[in-house]
Amino acid sequence: MSSEKFYFVGIDHASAEARLLFDVLSLDRPPSRRAMSPTDVAGLTRLTKFRCTGSYNLLSGESEVCRSGKLPSRAGQQCTECWTLSGFNPAFYNVSKSELSEQQQKYNLEPHSVYLAHFGASQIKIGIANARRLNLRWKEQGALAAIELFRATSAYDARHLELKVHSGYGFPEAVRSNRKIEGLLSRQPEEEMLRELQDDADRLRRDFGLATDERPRIVYARRLYAKVSEANEVMVTNASSPLTLRGPIVSIIGGLMVWTADRIAITTAQKFLGHQVWPKSVDADFADCKSIARAAQQENLF
Ligand SMILES: [Zn+2]
Repeated sequence: MSSEKFYFVGIDHASAEARLLFDVLSLDRPPSRRAMSPTDVAGLTRLTKFRCTGSYNLLSGESEVCRSGKLPSRAGQQCTECWTLSGFNPAFYNVSKSELSEQQQKYNLEPHSVYLAHFGASQIKIGIANARRLNLRWKEQGALAAIELFRATSAYDARHLELKVHSGYGFPEAVRSNRKIEGLLSRQPEEEMLRELQDDADRLRRDFGLATDERPRIVYARRLYAKVSEANEVMVTNASSPLTLRGPIVSIIGGLMVWTADRIAITTAQKFLGHQVWPKSVDADFADCKSIARAAQQENLF
């Protein structure tokens, strides 16, 4: 029997198909990070133990397994060493530049996009992202469609416009997970979402005098979305520990994982984040789990 222990540390949206990330601990090797295709994970049991979710290199975009072995205060968080190593403050505009890490100071001076993202059910949010990772950011958030409103020269200029659109027009800066689930299940037609984005973008560009003609586009994988929109009954889990989901996972949309057992279930990856888990591989012969009804740290990064 394997002595390996698995900790769920997030979802990687950088490859064509989203993958689950696990930190693997064993007695005879240093900790390592392993990506698994969702279709290879037939189930996941969350155990109470947790560890640090590791660090993220802002400039290279690489995430790293935690080497300090120190525990964060809560599951799903970083230890102080990994937090310092990542050096990212999402509320950078509330502190002086000298309080930001050197890597974030550089990062913030790169071009940043101001965008509108659509989450279904006519829910549209305003956001900013480093232009290099704009598409990735949309996928991490689980946007169904999105449009780049304007490309600013820095994070500061982008934030300036974001704030004006937020406060002047009422576009939210975040959409909660349960609203994203509602949006997914609303089955709003693609043409309608694209038209709403285009109309809002036209109005904002006109009002702010923004010269750009980027068009809205569909962000999610249609093949995966179909699994959710075809379902007649969906279970959304709110269980507390221990939490077992019997799979396989058929879709990952942003931080939402969609499972099929006897019916469709949706849960946020956040529920598993940082926790030791018991991944049931399709090929492995595990004893049966009890059946019941999650940005990673990167989810907070823009
Ligand atoms: Zn750490």
